[in-house]
Formats: sequence, C-alpha cells, structure tokens
Amino acid sequence: MLQTPYYLIDKSKLLQNMEKIAIVREKSGAKALLALKCFATWSVFDFMRDYMDGTTSSSLNEVRLGHERFGKETHAYSVAYADYEIDEVVSHADKIIFNSIGQLQRFENQSSAITRGLRLNPGVSSSSFDLADPARPFSRLGEWDQKQVEPVMDMITGFMIHNNCENRDFALFDRMLGDIEEKFAPLLKKAEWVSLGGGIHFTGDDYPVDQFAERLKRFSGKYGVQVYLEPGEASITKSTTLETTVLDTLYNGKNLVVVDSSIEAHMLDLLIYRENAKVHPNQGPHRAMVCGKSCLAGDIFGEFDFPQEVKVGDRISFQDAAGYTMVKKNWFNGVKMPAIAIRELDGSLRTVREFHYTDYEQSLS
Ligand SMILES: *Cc1c(COP(=O)(O)O)cnc(C)c1O
Repeated sequence: MLQTPYYLIDKSKLLQNMEKIAIVREKSGAKALLALKCFATWSVFDFMRDYMDGTTSSSLNEVRLGHERFGKETHAYSVAYADYEIDEVVSHADKIIFNSIGQLQRFENQSSAITRGLRLNPGVSSSSFDLADPARPFSRLGEWDQKQVEPVMDMITGFMIHNNCENRDFALFDRMLGDIEEKFAPLLKKAEWVSLGGGIHFTGDDYPVDQFAERLKRFSGKYGVQVYLEPGEASITKSTTLETTVLDTLYNGKNLVVVDSSIEAHMLDLLIYRENAKVHPNQGPHRAMVCGKSCLAGDIFGEFDFPQEVKVGDRISFQDAAGYTMVKKNWFNGVKMPAIAIRELDGSLRTVREFHYTDYEQSLS
C-alpha cells in the first residue's frame, strides 16, 4: 500500500466537473481552457482533454506544459515576458495575450505569426481579498483606458478580462459582465474573441448553469465574439484529497494531533488566505486540533470533530486538495513530499509519482 502523505485525485469526482463544463460549452458556444496556474498535474490531462478545449498559462513553463502535455488550444499569457523567453513562448502558443500595451508593442515582431490579444482591467471584481483582487487600487493586471487601447486595435483581435474570484453568485457575475459591456462596448464590438477568465464557480452545487450559458451566449451574439472561459478551481474542485497519517497526539489545553504532512509545505494556499483545511464529515464528540509536522508554530490544519478519539496510526483525509495546492507544494523543513495517486473510474488506485531524497536535494544546489 502507498505510504502517506499523498494527494489522491479521484477521477469519478473530476468527471462531475468535466461534465458540467461540457454542458456549458455545448449550451453557450464558449470554449473552456484549463488555467494551469491552479492545477498542472498532467497525469489526468488525457482524461480532461475530452471535456475541455485546451489550456491557458501564466508563464513560459506553463505554456510549454500545456502545449506538450495537454495539447489542443494553447493560450499564452503572462504579467510580463522577458526578451529571452518570448520566442519560445510563441512557439508553444496559438494565442498570446499581453498584459500591457507596452509588452504588446515591445514584442510586436516576435509575436506577429500568432493571434494576439490584450488584457483589459474593468476596475471591478468579485474578490473580497485584497491579495487576490485584480481590480485592487493601482493594479498592474491589464489596461483600463479605452483611449489608449484604441490605437493598438490593429495589432490584436481579442481581449482577456479576468475579474472574478471564487465567484459563486451568478447575479454578481451577470452584473459585472454588464459593467464590462458598459465600459468597453466599443472595443468589444471590434473584437473577434473575448476570454472572460476564471474565478467563476459554475461547477459548484446549485449554480444556475443554464442561466450562465444563456448569458454567455447572449454576450457572444451581441458582440460577435468567440467567448472563452479559463476555469482553474472550477475544473478540479472537490476532486482531490490529501491523505495523511497521525504520528503523535499531545494535550496542551486542547487535544492535539500531529500528522505526517504540513499545511505550509503541502496546502500553502490555506495558510496564505488564513483558511482551515476541510475534513469530512467533521462530526462527532471528539474534538482535536490537527497540526503539521514542520517547525512552524502555526502549522495547523484546523480544529475538527471526530467520531472517535484520534489515535496514532489513524488516517486523516483533507478535502479539496487540488486547486492552488499541488502547484504550491514545497520542501520547507524537508518534510516528505506527498506522492500523487489517481483513483481510476473502476475504483483502482494508481500511483503516478513518488518523491525521494534526490528530488529534495536537487531542488537546491
Ligand atoms: C487565476 C486565473 C485563472 C483561473 O482562476 P480560477 O479562480 O482558478 O478559476 C484564469 N485566468 C487568469 C487570467 C487567471 O489569472
């Protein structure tokens, strides 16, 4: 049996998201590109490829991975490209979306053979977290002044607008798209394609998928544009767990449990956004604080309720360990890196990657 810790991707759960994405594509005519910055575990790309149109990226490494491991349509985007990487970026992409007019002009010649676009920033967003708010004051993410964009329209054929963030509220999405239309209508009319970015939680329970698809279709028809979506979290949400084993228990005013993992090393996003991990069912009379094994005092997954008293050797499974989690894993404290396993549709378990001392050693020099 595979040693913990490991990330476990459950294909039957992934399939539920894929099927919703397929419905939205079919009903709206929009294309869906996986955002690799959220999830880049390429062992399941063969599976996801049938339900999505390709990938989008935020760096040279990502655009190359998308091209080589996923295939289909490959969009390149980055906040800023360096001179030494632009040719390689272009060689892997069907479309390149520049973050600024400055970058578009700087790389005009090198990018002339592929479709080009520009990121627009409408100045409104659904994010309540300053850290993740593309429309935060003085944001560097995209151009906002229509007058500056009009003169470069002959160099581009479309736009990317990413201003949703974990947005579960269709009415809010609808309203913000209305804001975008109001602000940028003359530009949208000249475009051939518009990517509405990610951050829309349309694979979540109870999301009004039909209304969403209808809204996208209406937008597409009004401006005569191919709409793209760039779902990251929505593609893989609830598909993956982090499997751990309890190594020790202590008592210090609360029941403490130490597992063979670390929130800082293996679920860093939760620490950054000050959220607790999730366990299911999180019900029962035995409350315990589950802690990581790194030296960081605040390496804590959260406090949970268990049906039985937690003992050394018990397994604890943390939910929702795919998005912004596997891509951020790191070697802090030299904690054993979680392996990666896939539960196939027939229920069988397949280990696709294990990490060893040499991976740790080679991560530095
Ligand atoms: C982060 C990002 C995405 C994916 O966002 P999710 O919230 O994971 O859906 C898509 N497009 C762009 C431009 C992004 O920066």
